[in-house]
Amino acid sequence: MTFEFIQRTLAERETEGLLRSRKLVSEIADGLICIDGKRCLNFGSNDYLGLSQHPDVLQSYVEGLAQYGAGSTASAAVCGYMRPHKTLEDKLCEMFNKQAVLLFNSGFAANQSICQALFPAQSREENHILCDKHMHASFIEGAMHANANFKRFKHNDLLHFATKLRTCSGNTLVATEGVFSMDGDIGEISDIQAMLKAHDYPLLVDDAHGFGVLGKTGLGVSETADIDARRIDILLATFGKAIGTAGAFIAGSEDFIEYLVNFAKHYIYTTAMPPAQAVATLTAIKIMQTSDQRTKLHENISLFQQLCNTHALPVLPSDSAIQPLIIGDAHRCVLASQSLLSLGVFTPAIRTPTVSKGTDRLRITLSALHHQHDIQALIDALCVVRERQGWPQ
Ligand SMILES: *Cc1c(COP(=O)(O)O)cnc(C)c1O
Repeated sequence: MTFEFIQRTLAERETEGLLRSRKLVSEIADGLICIDGKRCLNFGSNDYLGLSQHPDVLQSYVEGLAQYGAGSTASAAVCGYMRPHKTLEDKLCEMFNKQAVLLFNSGFAANQSICQALFPAQSREENHILCDKHMHASFIEGAMHANANFKRFKHNDLLHFATKLRTCSGNTLVATEGVFSMDGDIGEISDIQAMLKAHDYPLLVDDAHGFGVLGKTGLGVSETADIDARRIDILLATFGKAIGTAGAFIAGSEDFIEYLVNFAKHYIYTTAMPPAQAVATLTAIKIMQTSDQRTKLHENISLFQQLCNTHALPVLPSDSAIQPLIIGDAHRCVLASQSLLSLGVFTPAIRTPTVSKGTDRLRITLSALHHQHDIQALIDALCVVRERQGWPQ
């Protein structure tokens, strides 16, 4: 029999408690979710500002559909690049003060594309990719398949970064994240920038979870203290999280973006983002910049942290919307998530290989949609389940 590993690896995953199965969502609104038929508080989505439900965003979608149709009908390289795409790119250029911006259908595609385009198979030089160990799988997967020596430094460990940096040469891409997707902490960007001063290596920052959440006007890590936004050579962020729609963008120099337009296969050989999605995304970004949703989110984050502190719940240190609680074992993590669900609280269990072994966790995400009493209910449920199951130990 061919491909016999399919059954075998599935069975292995099952015995390890690591089999993934999808939960069916039938309703989602106002911080609530109906998941597998159960209606509960939603602490699992990345809709940090509640923009996926905002009436003005929905209205823009409808207007975009009426004006431009349901789809872009072609690759951007043929005739799929439409007015709303250009308007959105221009807006992002201006916001981030970058020369050029390119839209992608997903952050996954954008990260893959950077790795593929910068390190083409036919390259004969000795090249390197150096990134943080906790970088998102969309980058790691791309880097592993790029024509470069792929090296990782320990999460936010500058000493280890310096050691690894010394082993790089040729065309080297250095990459880290703004807000780490599974830890919620922030990349050591300013120190990395300082250490890169002696080199000509470009720095990529993936700020999927910082965009809309951090900074006075929601620009993300590049708007926070110490970080020199001009020295983030390649900035990547997505629209599927705080912005509430879908898709992603890469911002960089004129030359780099023009190069991607010509050589990024994930850009050229795919149907461009639906124009209505670009229209809705532009509206969502404007709301993100001007509404008080971000203030509300941060009030919720503070309240949650304060209550965790009171009840000795050891969440990882994080000032972002991502507040992980390490359980440490896949089976127990799933059990905790199930118990919480039965108490009316959805907090997803994130297991290996998404996170490293022994750090299986509840990935709690907060949103501006949550009310104070929702957060209190989450804390109560966490305390009940901890009492019953005796974690974390
Ligand atoms: C979600 C995420 C991505 C992938 O973005 P999609 O648009 O969902 O494909 C990339 N990088 C990071 C850090 C992410 O959290």
